[in-house]
Amino acid sequence: VAALNATHDPARRSWVESANDQRGDFPVQNLPLGVFRRRSEPASSARAGVAIGDQVLDLAACLDAGLLAGTPAEMPARLAVTGGTLNALMAAGNRASSALRAGISELMREGGEAAARARAEAARILVPMSEAELGLPAAINAFTDFLTSIHHTERGGRMTRPDSPVPQNFRHLPIAYNSRASTVVPSGHAIRRPNGQRRRPEGEVVFGPCDHLDFELELGLFIGPGNAMGEPIALRAAPEHIFGYCLVNDWSARDIQRWESHPLGPFLAKSAATSISPWIVTAEAMAPFRTAAFARPAGDPAPLPYLTDPTDQDEGGMDLGLDAFILTAHMRERGEAPARLTATNFRHMYWTFAQMLTHHASNGCALRPGDLIASGTTSGPTDEARACLSELNLDLSTRSRRPVALPNGESRLWLEDGDEVIFRARAERRGFVPIGFGECRGRVDPAPAWPV
Ligand code: MN
Repeated sequence: VAALNATHDPARRSWVESANDQRGDFPVQNLPLGVFRRRSEPASSARAGVAIGDQVLDLAACLDAGLLAGTPAEMPARLAVTGGTLNALMAAGNRASSALRAGISELMREGGEAAARARAEAARILVPMSEAELGLPAAINAFTDFLTSIHHTERGGRMTRPDSPVPQNFRHLPIAYNSRASTVVPSGHAIRRPNGQRRRPEGEVVFGPCDHLDFELELGLFIGPGNAMGEPIALRAAPEHIFGYCLVNDWSARDIQRWESHPLGPFLAKSAATSISPWIVTAEAMAPFRTAAFARPAGDPAPLPYLTDPTDQDEGGMDLGLDAFILTAHMRERGEAPARLTATNFRHMYWTFAQMLTHHASNGCALRPGDLIASGTTSGPTDEARACLSELNLDLSTRSRRPVALPNGESRLWLEDGDEVIFRARAERRGFVPIGFGECRGRVDPAPAWPV
């Protein structure tokens, strides 16, 4: 687990003035990594950058200007700018990304000789965020989606399995399915409503546009070095394979899911699209916000030994606020602000990310640099912490669904065409500078006409 160091120092400020506004997401204590280009540049010029205030620090330009020459950050910076993705840096492990973070912090902080040289090159190394197009930060070869909120699982289960809402295996293992990497898209990419097969309540089986489109507010993790096939990862070693985190919207077609999922699990209901926020907040940036793993209620089974580690129990959780908003077409036309649907926190997750990784690799499955792991819907115990519409629209007293009222008088049972779903995340702790994740947003476009 990453230790606290000078890069977390709350007294550290940046010469990029916008980074010192503590309401912002990207102070000098954050330094998330992404892949960007100027809008005016061709797609082939996508390269590694770091968010700082309202600017993007261009790592290739920093190298060209010699700002990292001869420092421990030079080699990892060269890996970061290799191939238009962050995969090579992820493969190099957390010591490399930590050296890069230390070097960038020296360049971006207020005071010091390195910062003075960087400031003299500001016009060359900074790109305004407003002129930047953010892409996928990694070539994502595999995407696994977990189910680790007991609150999400229990609410859904009370509708479908009222006698035993939480499946028997949930408290023994982090449940997951292998999802689809090919349709992971960065924030801002529009989502086409999927067509699919489902069974109407009266029994007719039909094909056409999904009627029950939902979002799932999740946290994603990018794998660092990973493991060779056949070589599991011990729980105490799992943090060495956690590069960093992003927001994930696991768009879900609930009507398709309900019909297709038995007995083998979700398939087309989940694979039409997955949106992620483009900035990866590193595990080291999140170090001040680590917290104890979920406290299991008395009577719950203890995890098996391969999923038990004292350090993971003490600090394997994260105190990270997660919010979901909706911006309907009507709100957009009237210039209204998005309406908040969800306010939850990652500390409510029953399993830690380290437990998910160790369980994932426990059978010898290989995890590779740039693989994406998502936590599952991050619902908490309270009503405001329901992190998808299929929980928000649930009336458990009558075991029926009713539309969610929005503040402008509209309501939503499920997502409609033109709706935009926006996620944000923010970590705050007394004595530290708060950091944010930026946005994960996606608008729902109409389904493609069929036959195609
Ligand atoms: Mn999911």
